[in-house]
Amino acid sequence: MNRRQFNLGLLGTAGAIAFRPLALQPRLRVNGSRLIAHINALAEFGKNPQGGVSRLAYSEADRRGREYVIELMQQAKLETAIDAAGNIVGRRAGSDKALPPLLFGSHIDSVPEGGNYDGVVGSLGGIEVAQTLVENNLTTHHPLEVVIFQNEEGGLIGSRAMNGELTEKELDLVSRSGKTIREGIRFLGGDPTKLSSVRRQPGSIAAYLELHIEQGGILETEKIDIGIVEGIVGINWWDVTIEGFANHAGTTPMNQRQDALLAAAKFIEAVNRVVTSIPGRQVGTVGRIQALPGAPNVIPGKVILSLELRDLGAAKIQMLYQKIRTEADQIAHTNKVTFDFKEINVNIPAPTDARIRSLINDSAKDLELSTKQMPSGAGHDAQDMARLAPVGMIFIPSVGGISHSPKEFSRLRDILNGANVLLHTLLKLDRANLAVDGSIT
Ligand SMILES: [Zn+2]
Repeated sequence: MNRRQFNLGLLGTAGAIAFRPLALQPRLRVNGSRLIAHINALAEFGKNPQGGVSRLAYSEADRRGREYVIELMQQAKLETAIDAAGNIVGRRAGSDKALPPLLFGSHIDSVPEGGNYDGVVGSLGGIEVAQTLVENNLTTHHPLEVVIFQNEEGGLIGSRAMNGELTEKELDLVSRSGKTIREGIRFLGGDPTKLSSVRRQPGSIAAYLELHIEQGGILETEKIDIGIVEGIVGINWWDVTIEGFANHAGTTPMNQRQDALLAAAKFIEAVNRVVTSIPGRQVGTVGRIQALPGAPNVIPGKVILSLELRDLGAAKIQMLYQKIRTEADQIAHTNKVTFDFKEINVNIPAPTDARIRSLINDSAKDLELSTKQMPSGAGHDAQDMARLAPVGMIFIPSVGGISHSPKEFSRLRDILNGANVLLHTLLKLDRANLAVDGSIT
C-alpha cells in the first residue's frame, strides 16, 4: 500500500466520502448478474399467470415492489426518501456542493397484464449504476438522484407533480387501481396536500437521463444495440364530426345523397395520403369511427371519428393538420356535407438535448455498440423532465417489438449494454458543464 492508498483507506474507514479524482473510468462496468437477479426478484411482485406482471400504480403489488426497490437503494448507499407526490428519490452527495443534481431513473408501475421490462430496466439499471459507483469508491462532482416516478402508466403522475403540471382536479380522478390519485399518493406514503414541495424549478436540475426499452421493433429489426432518443413525439388528437343527411337507402337516388360515411371514407384515405406525402417519420391515424344512425337501410347522416397526428415537431403537426383541413373542405364541397374539428388533447413534443445525445453516442462507441437516433412514439417521464432540464433517453431493443404485454422481453446482453451506456453517459455528463447557451464547456 502506498501512501496515497493509505490515506484513501483512512478516509474510507472514517466514513467520509473518498474523493478519488473522478477521471473517466473506461473499464468500469455494472454487475450484470446482480442487475438481472434484481429484475427477476421485482417480477415476483404482481406476477401474473401469463409470465408478466400486473403491478398497477397504488395496488398492493406496487407498494410491495416499491419497498423492495427502497431496499435496493439502501444497499446502494442512497439516502432514500418518498417525496410528497409518492416518488421514491435516492440521493447521493457529490464532491461539489454548489452543483445541481443529476437525475436518472424511470418507473416500476405497469399496465394491467404488463411485462417485466417497461420502466423496470431504467429503474433497476439506475440503482445498479449507483451501486457500481459506490463499490468502486467513485464520487461524482454533482449530487446524484435516482428517481422512481409513481404512476407513469396512468398519466405520468409523479413526473408531472415534479414539473408542476399536476392539477388539483386530477387528484380526484379514479385510477385503474380503483383509488383516486389523491388516495393513491397517500397509499404510497406521500402527502397530496404538500405537492408544492415536490415541484422543481427549471435550472435546478443539471440533467435527466432515462434508460428504457424501445417498446417497438426498429432496433431489433435493424440489429442495433442502442437507440438514442431524439425526443418524445407530440400527439394531437381531434374528434371530427361529419354531418350529412340521413335518408331512406332505398328511395334516395345516388346523385341526391349527403352520405357522411362516404365522406368519412374519403377523409380517412386523405389523412393517409397527406401524412405519407412528405418525407419524415410523422404518423397519422383514424382509429375510431361511429356512423349514425347506424342501420343498413339508412344513409348515414352523421359520422364522428378521431384524428391523431404524431411527430417530433409541433410545426410539422400543424402543417399536416392544415393540409388535412384543406382536403376536408374539398370533400365537404363534393359530398354536400360539413366537417367540424374539435381539439381533444395536445401533448407538445419534448426534444432531448443534442449535447446529451452526443454523449450517449460517445459512451456507446467506447463500449463498441452500434447506435441509431430515433424518436420515441410512446410517452415517458422524460417528457415532463424536459420542461425542467436537458434530458437524454437511451433505448434498448424489445424482442419482437412487443410491449405492454406479458410477452415483453429484452435480452440480458441488451439490458447490460443499456446500463453500461447509462453509467458512462452519467460520468461524461458529470464532467461536462452544460451551459445555457447550448454548448458543453
Ligand atoms: Zn415505461
